[in-house]
Amino acid sequence: MTRRIALVAHDAQKDRMVDWAKANAAALGGLSICATGTTGGRLAEAGLTVERLLSGPLGGDAQLGAMIAEGRLEALIFFIDPLTAVPHDVDVKSLLRLAILYDTPLAVNRASADAVLAALMQKDHAT
Ligand code: PGA
Repeated sequence: MTRRIALVAHDAQKDRMVDWAKANAAALGGLSICATGTTGGRLAEAGLTVERLLSGPLGGDAQLGAMIAEGRLEALIFFIDPLTAVPHDVDVKSLLRLAILYDTPLAVNRASADAVLAALMQKDHAT
């Protein structure tokens, strides 16, 4: 079964997410990638193969939370905007809460995304 990870970025972080994904395209190519709607659109434009969910504010974050609760997501890379309030803050909190509850590897910026991806790759080689 292909391992699935999720990529999500708030609007002010989407360029950063695209840059990170392009820089790590080789590693990400061995995983199944899902993303919230707008983030997924940007990643698809950049050449990545992505399963697109609903846009975050329209239920995409909730879909990811459900995937975590059902054990269908191996890691969550979520570039949160630290400077702007979002209307769907409750969904963001819920998603983060479920990632913590289910001990899902979680990255919220580039440095932690590098660390999570490296750990996933290492696990890949160990199995
Ligand atoms: P988006 O959602 O990718 O559809 O913009 C991200 C988010 O959760 O805000």
